[in-house]
Amino acid sequence: MSIIINQVNKKFGDFQALKDINLEVKPNTLVALLGPSGSGKSTLLRVIAGLETPDSGQVIINGKDTTHLDIRKRNIGFVFQHYALFKHLTIKENIAFGLKIRKTPKNQIKYKVAELLDLIQLEGLGDRYPSQLSGGQRQRVALARALAVQPQLLLLDEPFGALDAKVRKDLRAWLRRLHDDVHITSVFVTHDQEEAMEVADEIVVMNHGVIEQIGTPAEIYDNPASPFVMKFIGEVN
Ligand code: ADP
Ligand code: MG
Repeated sequence: MSIIINQVNKKFGDFQALKDINLEVKPNTLVALLGPSGSGKSTLLRVIAGLETPDSGQVIINGKDTTHLDIRKRNIGFVFQHYALFKHLTIKENIAFGLKIRKTPKNQIKYKVAELLDLIQLEGLGDRYPSQLSGGQRQRVALARALAVQPQLLLLDEPFGALDAKVRKDLRAWLRRLHDDVHITSVFVTHDQEEAMEVADEIVVMNHGVIEQIGTPAEIYDNPASPFVMKFIGEVN
């Protein structure tokens, strides 16, 4: 799935959260929106998702203007930092949730859930409840749940933000492998430059609602386009 963001602006009251945003996301790439807190990353992700309507500009998905298209028609998977699993459902039931509400036949659900448990390397833990898993395992389940309905686009907002450094590092590598396996277009929000550098095909550096630079990790590292990018990339969390 390709995404073209064309000249998008978004204000909250008098505050301009997104200014003249232009961005192209190519099919099957993993793109990171990177920037400090308040730079507009989540707002841009929400505009792509259709959870937020821009004041002006277009969101074009697969060549179609979807700026005003209903979110349920967009075929998007979401993983958010605080988008919790259903506590009273087992891991298998959590993963199956979206398939059930789409009235997928039972045998197909069973097959799909087994396949996803395998993909997230939690085979054997499917009958546990979320409280019986670690934070990192739970986020892998959240990813499997998002992928179950075979979205063409996966949107992740600081998916590993609440986890400790070691687990984050493991999940990064794991997200990269997963992305290469399932052939999906993903947009991934982070304020962690190391995470973006390690995981993304392309990085979109944001600051105060504008895009400062778009490039591969190497391009951004070697040729920062502004003093802001240079400083931000150089900072260590
Ligand atoms: P980031 O994800 O980069 O931290 P956000 O996109 O969440 O930044 O927010 C960008 C700016 O827009 C922030 O200053 C935030 O306070 C403001 N903002 C975001 N959503 C709303 C909203 N619904 N109402 C008012 N202000 C908002
Ligand atoms: Mg945010």
